[in-house]
Amino acid sequence: MTHKTFGYFDLLETFPKPGCAVCNLLLRDTHAFLDSIMYEYVMDPETQNKFRDSRGLCDQHGWQIAQMGSGLGVAVLYERALGDLLETLNAAAKGITRSGGLSRLRGSKEGTTLADALEPSQPCIACKHLTESEARYLKEISQHANDPKLQAAYSASDGLCLEHFRGLLRVTGSPARLQTLIAMQTDIWTRLRAELNEFMRKSDFNNAGEKMGAEGSSWRRVVARLGGEHGVFGLRRLKP
Ligand SMILES: [Zn+2]
Ligand SMILES: [Zn+2]
Repeated sequence: MTHKTFGYFDLLETFPKPGCAVCNLLLRDTHAFLDSIMYEYVMDPETQNKFRDSRGLCDQHGWQIAQMGSGLGVAVLYERALGDLLETLNAAAKGITRSGGLSRLRGSKEGTTLADALEPSQPCIACKHLTESEARYLKEISQHANDPKLQAAYSASDGLCLEHFRGLLRVTGSPARLQTLIAMQTDIWTRLRAELNEFMRKSDFNNAGEKMGAEGSSWRRVVARLGGEHGVFGLRRLKP
């Protein structure tokens, strides 16, 4: 029997909620992680160093923390990151000569070197945390693919979003589990596609008299099913 971990029970609890269970758990976990940073780790030197090395948080998580209400915590962490950027700018400014011909119009070596020096050397700490949690949840689903409770919860759910389903396939080595997962996701996507077709049919002028049912929201749901729940991935997926 496979050991049932905390993640397993989290998944069972989350599958019945609308949307991708992994996305939903990551949203919850990321919020809790940022909350703990703000209220427990602002003065922690290791956290401060990581924050400095990642040049603060990414666009998505930066705005998330800005809306969490601890202006002082944000100021403490970002002041250090900003101080480091200023040191880099000051050091570079001294080394840049004013000479140079037309080639300067196409960009300079100094400019490129400085731009490189301003790059983060570490990923956003919230993105890093999210990536680690994501791997844990996907492994958990994969390992319990043949567990009757997890199967029932998965089958009755909205399924995983495309990104997380791809991740799930990648971590599933057993052909039997792979078949189970593919069958469940296929059923879910087939039902969603039928809803989209029904929505399009009822949206037709000729069928305007027919009352719209649950399929009325299928066009919104398919956006989340293929792109992920709102606020999970951000720009992270665009980076190599
Ligand atoms: Zn997802
Ligand atoms: Zn981030």
